[in-house]
Amino acid sequence: MYTVQEVIRLVSTKKKSAQEIAAEYLERIGQKNTDLNAYVEVYSDVLEQAKKVDERLAQGEKLPLAGVCIGIKDNILRKGFHASAGSNILKPYVATYSSTVVEHLEKLGAIFLGRCNMDEFAMGSSTENSAHGPTKNPHDLSRIPGGSSGGSAAALAADLATVTLGSDTGGSVRQPASFCGLVGLLPTYGTVSRYGLIAMGSSLDQIGPFGVSVEDVETMFKAIAHHDPLDSTSVPISRRIIQGTQNKKVGVPFSFIEREGIDAEVLENFKESIDALKKKGYEIVPIDLPLAHYALAVYYIVMFAEASTNLARFDGVRYGLSVPGGTPNETYINSRGQGFGKEVQRRIMLGNYVLSHGYYDAFYKKAVSLRAAIIQDFQKAFQDVEFIAMPTSPIPAFALGEKTQDPLTMYLADIFTVPVNIAQIPGISVPSGKTKTGLPLGMQFLATQFNEAGLFAIGKDFENHG
Ligand code: GLN
Repeated sequence: MYTVQEVIRLVSTKKKSAQEIAAEYLERIGQKNTDLNAYVEVYSDVLEQAKKVDERLAQGEKLPLAGVCIGIKDNILRKGFHASAGSNILKPYVATYSSTVVEHLEKLGAIFLGRCNMDEFAMGSSTENSAHGPTKNPHDLSRIPGGSSGGSAAALAADLATVTLGSDTGGSVRQPASFCGLVGLLPTYGTVSRYGLIAMGSSLDQIGPFGVSVEDVETMFKAIAHHDPLDSTSVPISRRIIQGTQNKKVGVPFSFIEREGIDAEVLENFKESIDALKKKGYEIVPIDLPLAHYALAVYYIVMFAEASTNLARFDGVRYGLSVPGGTPNETYINSRGQGFGKEVQRRIMLGNYVLSHGYYDAFYKKAVSLRAAIIQDFQKAFQDVEFIAMPTSPIPAFALGEKTQDPLTMYLADIFTVPVNIAQIPGISVPSGKTKTGLPLGMQFLATQFNEAGLFAIGKDFENHG
């Protein structure tokens, strides 16, 4: 398994060409992808891209990511190629432009291997809600890899890419990272451009990298964290000011974590992880996040509302699948009825409900004011501590099919990840060990806005504790 640094070293010292590295990944994908279903498409031009990288190097171009092979989530656009967001409604869709992240990475010499599987429109925690079928966890093929970026996580964990990209609206990078033994980052909202990312919940979505080490994730983050005038919520570099304490204090919201529903092995592992941090010189401070347990309810109102609005554009006329009826209304009903899966339809209906006249005040408006209070909760905690630590997920990777009939228990598994998107702060999941049966677990660190550098520092200290 190559790290990003290893690929860069091999290619820059001419020990291997970008074409050789890409061919190695293609071969492994050929061997393993049928079982895992991590990629829904391997790009037809991988070797051509690699050849171009080799040519650019031969011409003396400096390419900081030369030969790094990347899998991208199926909701990130690459011009001229399909992007389906895991949905039947977008299966015929071909991107007419590239996302800003893809453009940046291409300039730096990266190679795109293909599109990784995901829950439809990023709605889910297991990658079972995909029109391309479920992805399996490489650590145990009877289990899910997490979601919604489960394909990106499984591809990397099986050594089918050097790094991968996912998107995180409520945990979709951090949770699959923890289930697959990887590092995953949710950048501060507004840091990475959302231009060319198929939208789910626009005030929550961020593209984030998966890596086998904190250093790899840091390298990728630096490559994609630019201001982008094409994304109106992209924060200009001059406004990315860190207001952290920088005191090596780690706040732990014990009463939020030690609740009913948390797996005993996860809790034990978390306590061991806390001890490891102490040994590394961090001071552990018990903190209170009194409103954090409302974040899940807030998330599942705000996100439904935003998703139902974003998905209104899929009308069977402008994009993708079209199932014509006798009247325009029939065309909408046919196309949306056949194009969207069950979970997406459920969220569109609930989103419209919370936004509708008479319910708007009771649900959406209340959720938005509670969101503001949760943000203040975090700000208060961060007055004293530089970081907050929590498990990434209350449970390890569950069995395929275990939660598909019960959406509510699936939503509950997001308890530790969604507050971070609600607060628009950054979070990183770092591997913290395994259960007795060998399932990976993850530790999550949070910091104030724009303090990704702090997260990389504590992540590296923690990663090396064993
Ligand atoms: N599991 C969460 C959901 O179903 C998070 C999804 C995400 O981050 N895209 O909404």
